[in-house]
Parts: sequence; structure tokens; C-alpha cells
Amino acid sequence: MIDFSSKGREAAGAGSDRQAANSLPFSRRSFLAKTSRFGAFYAVAKLIPLPAVAAELATDSRVSQTPIADKGFASVRKIGEGLYATISDPSKGFQTVCNGGFLVGKDGALLIEGFISAPGAAFQLDALRTVSQAPVKGALDTHYHYDHSMGNAFYGANGIPLWAHANVTKRIVESYGALQGADKAAFLGPLEKAVKEAKTETARKHREDYLAHVTNVFNASNSAVLALPNHPIDPSKLPTKVDLGGVTAVLESYPGHSGTDVIVRVPEQNVVYAGDLVFSNMYPVSFDAQATVSGWRQTLKTFASWDKDTLFVPGHGPICGQEGIALLRALFDDIEEQAQKMHKAGVPALEAADLYEIPEKYKNVAIFAWDFSIGPTITKLYAEWGAR
Ligand SMILES: [Zn+2]
Repeated sequence: MIDFSSKGREAAGAGSDRQAANSLPFSRRSFLAKTSRFGAFYAVAKLIPLPAVAAELATDSRVSQTPIADKGFASVRKIGEGLYATISDPSKGFQTVCNGGFLVGKDGALLIEGFISAPGAAFQLDALRTVSQAPVKGALDTHYHYDHSMGNAFYGANGIPLWAHANVTKRIVESYGALQGADKAAFLGPLEKAVKEAKTETARKHREDYLAHVTNVFNASNSAVLALPNHPIDPSKLPTKVDLGGVTAVLESYPGHSGTDVIVRVPEQNVVYAGDLVFSNMYPVSFDAQATVSGWRQTLKTFASWDKDTLFVPGHGPICGQEGIALLRALFDDIEEQAQKMHKAGVPALEAADLYEIPEKYKNVAIFAWDFSIGPTITKLYAEWGAR
């Protein structure tokens, strides 16, 4: 448990002093505080295999039933004129993990996401080259989280400019650069302690899951060669249009998931590459220090106000329509409803974070890791109410 809970911070502070021996330019305590802001990792091995396209869209004429490329771990399909979606299936491999896609006009192309590894980014560029030889204007990380950015180096090595929200560079360095060369045992020690000290079976399961994810983040951060965006996007200058020749993309920034979220909208075709502002058929991942529940729900309200035929390429999960946005909003509502009841009953935030009960109707909604999603959503709601 780190970052979103005082219990976690105490546990982190109780770690071994061996960490201080590292050549990191800050104290062990601040190191642990900083590294607690790493990007989301998902229990890929435990993920429920998901279809690439939500059932509601099975008959949508814009979405091609046959992919133009399919490697198991991800497939690419046409979803509009010059628009393609890359949909991951982590149950078949961890090369991409998140979704992405690309837009192709007669003058240029725009790639979306650096994925979790260079082979993931390579797969997407290869798929693009089967349909177009147009120069690539840029590859956009929709936000800094490592499953969207660790493959950036592949694009960089191929001379493709890396685009991202202006704060992405700083947050990659702080979150993943800080992990490189760090003492693994010291880093994970507090999380192992939190598993041992869990007071209930449910809490122990949540902490174990968390430890497994964080271990993977550590390993991935240490095996990646970090590549930082060289085309920072100032959010105050958004929205901005990107003319690819016959296809016009609009970049917009919204709050909620990471404080660095940029989406790609194609208003003429009602298509939105939403990054992690949309989790499709999954509980929202809200652990980030800059994630805000109120901001995210406001963003989803805006998405819901767009055309009823809008197609969303989510950061994770199948391509969805407005029904996917409605589900995500309903999940936030349900978490809030249960959290409010617990708060009124005098249950403290950290206890409440483990006690949410998944309603029968949401039994098939995926949870990547409780402590990255449901837990922090509850503690953040309490914080928004001024409660603990
Ligand atoms: Zn994310």
C-alpha cells in the first residue's frame, strides 16, 4: 500500500535503511514517496480475456470484423476512414498491454501509444506500414503511465517524434527513472510487510495482488530504455487540430486519470481515442497521485454528451460506444454509494477501501488490481468529502 493511504505511507517509512545506501539523490523516505507514483500495472496474467469489440458494436459498419494485423497479444482493425484501433489481449502476451491505434491521411500519419515495450510499438508501426507509407508526424503517449510509454524508444530510434502532455517527461523520469538501479528488496520490503500485517483475508489478497503488480512495474522499468517525448503539448493551448490530409484529428486534454491525459478526437467521424480516461468493461484505475474522482466523473459527463454514435477506443478493454461510458459512470456511482454508506456508519477510509462489494450485475467487469482501482477510488472520495 503506498501513495493513496496513510497506512501505506507508514508501511513505506518502516522499510529497511539499506535503501539509503543507494546513490539516489534523495532520502529513502522521499525515494519511496516518489516511486509510489509509478504508472499503473495490470494483473495481466489474471485478466479476463476480452473481445476486441463490445457486443453492442458487433454490427457497427465502421468497425471491421477482420483485423489487418493480429499477433494474439494485440490486433489492429479499421474503425473508420483512415482510422485504426490496436486492441490488446494481455492474456496472450505482454508486448502491448494497453490499446492504441493510428490515423492515416494522404499527407501523414499519427501513431497512438508507446505501449509497454518496444516490440509492442514495433508491431503497431508494422501494421501502419501495411496500409500507408505516409510520413509519421508523431507518436502520441496519451499519458505517462508505463504501459503506454515504455516502448517509446522504438519510435525514437526510427526518427518518429514523440508527442505527449508537457508534464509527461517529468513524470516518467520521477516515476520510472527513479526505479532504475534501485534496490529491489528494499523497494518491495514495505509492500511485503503490508501483506504480512493485513488484518483480514480480503485485505491480504488485495495487498498480495498489489505486491505482484508493483514487482512487475519494477521489473519493466528496469528492463526498458526510457525515451522521453520531444514534442511537449502545452495543455493550455488545447484543443488543437492536426491535419493529416483528409483526416483531421483534434487533441484535447481532460482531468481524471493521470494529470497528463491527452485524447485524440476525430469529430467528423465520431471517433475518440480516449486513452485511460476510458476503461471499457473495467473498474477505473485511479491510483495516480494526480487522479481525481470528481474530475474524472466530470470528464465522463462530457464524453456522454457527445454524439450517441461515438466510437471510443479505450485505454484498456474492448472498443465501446456510449454504453461503455455509461457503465464506467455507473461503476463510479456504485463505488460512491457504498463508500458513502460506510462513511456514514463511521468506517474509516482505509478500512472502507477493502470493503466494497461487487454487485452481481458487475461480476463480469474486470478489476486489474484492487489497490490500483477500487481502493484508491474510495480513499479519494473520502478525501473529497474531507473525511479520513
Ligand atoms: Zn494509465
